[in-house]
Amino acid sequence: MTTVCELNKCAGCMACVDICPKRAIKIKDSLSTYNAVIDEKKCIRCNACHKVCQVNHPARAKAPINWHQGWIENLEMREECSSGGAATAISKEFLENGGIVCGCTFNEGKFIFEFANDKDDLKKFIGSKYVKSDPTGIYKKIKDRLKCAGKVLFIGLPCQVAALKNFIGTDLSDKLYTIDLICHGTPSPRVLDIFLKQYGLTLSALKDIKFRVKAKFQIYGDYKEIITKGVSDRYSIAFLNALTYTENCYSCPYAKTKRVSDVTLGDSWGSELAIDEQKKGISLILSQTEKGNELLKMANLHLEAVDIEKAIANNHQLEYPSFRPTGRDKFFAGIKDRKFNSLVFQQLPKQCLRQDVKKILIKLQIIGGGVN
Ligand SMILES: Cc1cc2nc3c(=O)[nH]c(=O)nc-3n(C[C@H](O)[C@H](O)[C@H](O)COP(=O)(O)OP(=O)(O)OC[C@H]3O[C@@H](n4cnc5c(N)ncnc54)[C@H](O)[C@@H]3O)c2cc1C
Repeated sequence: MTTVCELNKCAGCMACVDICPKRAIKIKDSLSTYNAVIDEKKCIRCNACHKVCQVNHPARAKAPINWHQGWIENLEMREECSSGGAATAISKEFLENGGIVCGCTFNEGKFIFEFANDKDDLKKFIGSKYVKSDPTGIYKKIKDRLKCAGKVLFIGLPCQVAALKNFIGTDLSDKLYTIDLICHGTPSPRVLDIFLKQYGLTLSALKDIKFRVKAKFQIYGDYKEIITKGVSDRYSIAFLNALTYTENCYSCPYAKTKRVSDVTLGDSWGSELAIDEQKKGISLILSQTEKGNELLKMANLHLEAVDIEKAIANNHQLEYPSFRPTGRDKFFAGIKDRKFNSLVFQQLPKQCLRQDVKKILIKLQIIGGGVN
């Protein structure tokens, strides 16, 4: 098997798939790893895939020049967003100033990238999707837009921002604005599908899926309830404990304080602001460039000071990647024959039991739960 980058280091950014003039590259998704495999019969040795690959050529990262915590001023919007809604606030103002925004949306069972042309269209991007999204096709489209139209704002995972920068090159970079998300790591969407199948659901049949309401992580959408409101299901437990990510995530070169984008967004975990504000969601907002400062200045954001040392201490992805759990190999070895939920329980019994007890306490109305 000839691969674009080192075996099992592929992040699934899809830039090589997009750039290949012979459509000679396919991503092999083995659940625990992604690999960009070259079809030797079609390959013309142009080397474009190797050059665009962000594993082979990581984008230049810069230290933050300013940092805040904050939230979108519109309370209704803030409630809908995953943390403080900073991504939505910046996107809204970028659109109003004549730019185009590109983000991740759930469409026909896939987590893909699209453009939003007006404010109402931005709603499709709201919410964190805790899964590996698929940027196939978007790099070319962004390059075309930059060539003929105005400014583009791209919001994605750090590896996707790095890939986009390699794909665009320096000539058009002035008109490209980027936001990356602080990222814990990502599972293949097929892992999510296997989880859903236990409940008679498939991703392709869902119209909508959500992964979280503020600090409560739980899969829900337009279908019957998977688990009691306010309790983390086994998919979320596995995600938060780094059990299900693809191999590359455990050595992610972007999990550090220096960032590849103009603005970095995450949750302001460990914030000292009032509990009421925390419940409504607070974004951690880092800016690395003058372009980043420009985005923040124009956005309708409430900004507060943040202790950067504390923010980093509460968000390890700003220093180092997630640790690879010892039971991860056993989890993936068993996934074809055994039920997803029982495999997660086997590897993370304490975390699962905690949620099972919570479920009983909510049912007995000893504690409150409902989030959706
Ligand atoms: C896989 C993943 C892991 C994360 N891990 C952490 C973490 O460990 N610590 C932390 O502080 N924050 C983490 N985040 C970021 C956090 O969950 C929020 O996405 C971020 O704070 C922005 O919130 P918001 O309220 O501003 O976003 P919103 O206004 O709700 O907008 C969400 C934005 O994120 C984009 N987006 C959502 N999911 C994806 C995806 N899968 N791929 C690409 N783009 C996507 C959407 O296009 C949209 O623009 C993670 C996000 C993801 C997707």
